[in-house]
Amino acid sequence: MADPLTIISTATTITSFIKKYWHILLILIFIIIMIPILIFSIAINVLFPQVSREEFKTYKSLTEETDISWDSFVVYDVVRLDNYLKENKPNESVFDFLLVDFKEYEIIETEKEISKIVDGQIVTETIIEKEYLVTRELEANGYTPIKELLNSLDYVTSEDNMTVKKVTDFLKNLNEMEEYEIETTILSDEEISEDFDEIHKEWFAALIEILPLIDPTSEFDPDEFIIPDLTDPDIPSIWPAGGTVTSEFGERRATHIHKGIDIANNTSTPIRATANGTVIAVGSSGNFGRRIMIYHGTDENGTTYVTIYAHLSEFKVGAGEKVDQGDIIGLMGNTGFSTGTHLHYEIRVNGTPVNPRMFLP
Ligand SMILES: [Zn+2]
Repeated sequence: MADPLTIISTATTITSFIKKYWHILLILIFIIIMIPILIFSIAINVLFPQVSREEFKTYKSLTEETDISWDSFVVYDVVRLDNYLKENKPNESVFDFLLVDFKEYEIIETEKEISKIVDGQIVTETIIEKEYLVTRELEANGYTPIKELLNSLDYVTSEDNMTVKKVTDFLKNLNEMEEYEIETTILSDEEISEDFDEIHKEWFAALIEILPLIDPTSEFDPDEFIIPDLTDPDIPSIWPAGGTVTSEFGERRATHIHKGIDIANNTSTPIRATANGTVIAVGSSGNFGRRIMIYHGTDENGTTYVTIYAHLSEFKVGAGEKVDQGDIIGLMGNTGFSTGTHLHYEIRVNGTPVNPRMFLP
């Protein structure tokens, strides 16, 4: 046993050490806490660059002006950030889907005197006549020609400035000036990816699919009336498990509003995928405990479906695995924040939880 005096003196030493260096210790603790947060946020930003609400508005307006989906614009900016296409294929880049019709005029102003009769008197007036001479006319498509055009217009073609949104805004502003006539058109999703190799095509498609899931600005009105086709195996349309519904969607809880439906049954009751899809997440996640997320694709209207199965006791699938409607993906459990064995089932449409009842027969 240690001598009580030794213990006291050690404690005193520690106390005096803390008293002396408390501010350094505080900084150290702060740094230790910040490191994982920093690493995490860097990783998230590198993997999934987010768009700000402001940027998103521009992408949306570009979408309205063209027929291209807003997430394609974001994808293209991701392409630019990644620099992948440019490095590997300098002629395939963010601007390959921009077609710029450009005309520049020289305006020649000539003073002219005209005479007219006002109240029986001859009045002479000086007017300015304008003549528009086309000095430059070109159709630019592809990164290099557009970059050259932009440079000639004193646009700073830094990497940061070469986004769809910035370039189209710049050209739009020029178009409002007298000496320019500029029209930009954007090719369709199909036209864009036409010349891509298979890897690029897959990558492009995957990014378009995944972006609405991770983008906080993606919009969906949960009050909008949805009539899901319950015969379509590509959208959630079966019960994920047998049992008793113990909690409905929208119920008010102490800390939150319930975003799914709870189905209670015995431990190890099989849990089934409610639609065909790809497993995008398998693991533990806070209150959800062991949970699985399945991505069911994006329909022709651009609507994305994801389902979540939480509080599982066991997983039967792995991330990336393709599943069919009705496949067993896991077993019911009581993991995470749960007060009894049940399944928390959630459906997210464009990232927003909706009432699963709409998708249940
Ligand atoms: Zn729940």
